[in-house]
Amino acid sequence: MKITAISPFILHMPVTGSQIADSTHTLSHWGVVGAKIDTDAGVSGYGFTGTHAHLPSDQLITRCIETCHAPLLLGEDPRDVQRLWLKLARDPALQWVGRAGITTLSHAALDVALWDIKAKAAGMPLWQLLGGAVRERLRAYNTDIGWLSLSDDQLLAGAVSAVEDGFTGIKIKVGSSVERDLRRLAAVRRAIGPDVTLAIDGNGKWDLPTCLRFCRAAAEHDVFWFEEPLWYDDVKGHAFLARSQAIPLALGEQLYTAEAFAEFFQQGALHWAQPDVTRMAGLTEVWRVCEMAQGWRLPVAPHAGDMSQVHVHLAYAHPACAVLEYIPWIRDGFTEPAEVVDGHFRRPGQPGAGTTPTPQAWERYRRPTN
Ligand code: MG
Repeated sequence: MKITAISPFILHMPVTGSQIADSTHTLSHWGVVGAKIDTDAGVSGYGFTGTHAHLPSDQLITRCIETCHAPLLLGEDPRDVQRLWLKLARDPALQWVGRAGITTLSHAALDVALWDIKAKAAGMPLWQLLGGAVRERLRAYNTDIGWLSLSDDQLLAGAVSAVEDGFTGIKIKVGSSVERDLRRLAAVRRAIGPDVTLAIDGNGKWDLPTCLRFCRAAAEHDVFWFEEPLWYDDVKGHAFLARSQAIPLALGEQLYTAEAFAEFFQQGALHWAQPDVTRMAGLTEVWRVCEMAQGWRLPVAPHAGDMSQVHVHLAYAHPACAVLEYIPWIRDGFTEPAEVVDGHFRRPGQPGAGTTPTPQAWERYRRPTN
């Protein structure tokens, strides 16, 4: 089997409501930026990274796919995923200009498309190709009810309705002011009762003294984890925070490499690893992080950067994955949507990685790639 064509694409798909915000980002659309890879066997694969639907930077990614990475893949056997991962990651000219950032996001899209082809060619859902399912059910937690842009009333109503829908875990955003966030956290805990896991996410906004002050008061509300309390790359700060208070720390959605995760593990700076196949160089690199977490006896909760399409396969197949984030923005744009029933992700049944867009999504959300 040989790769015959690589076609980049950009889809901008709307978020729930007209706009959402966390402590550092405000967005109206999610960017699904990636490539379709065609082969001489008639099998095509789709892979994508996730963005904030900012067309100029999305077009940097599609340009990288088209002009830098595609020439390295044309004519290759797409099923040689590990060898092709090395070919893209170790290309001397490309690693000189970017061992992280645009080149990695481009690589992420292509690596996932290769896995999609490999699984489709084998006639298996990706989780089966990765070694088979290690669990009967995969617990979902809902983030889409917890944005900072929601009023207190909207937040409470959303939290209660998520629990009524069967979710046993939710996550709310923090990082506005300590007083407002503590008030909202206490109110949500009261509303959902003691049996639902309640995580919080700061999106890297606060400094260490603010986090220490917040954590002292937040601990009484049984916080499942505090995600990205500090700036993404601050290993020392997270290590200090992990030692200084009782709430477990989660992070990783902004880390590009397995080496970056290694440093956090080594320094005892995280309790939950949150790698993302759309941020790192695809599933191939994320699998390494899951293996690392397993070695440290720490759990993985993949980030929903791809809105769970690929991560649901990963989390069914890797023993370190304990729970998976649910954000439904783009799910209906795919031929096999990531579906939650009774608080658990349904195990995918179609061959591939779940990344094939529907013709309607293709028609409706496409933007120009240059
Ligand atoms: Mg997050």
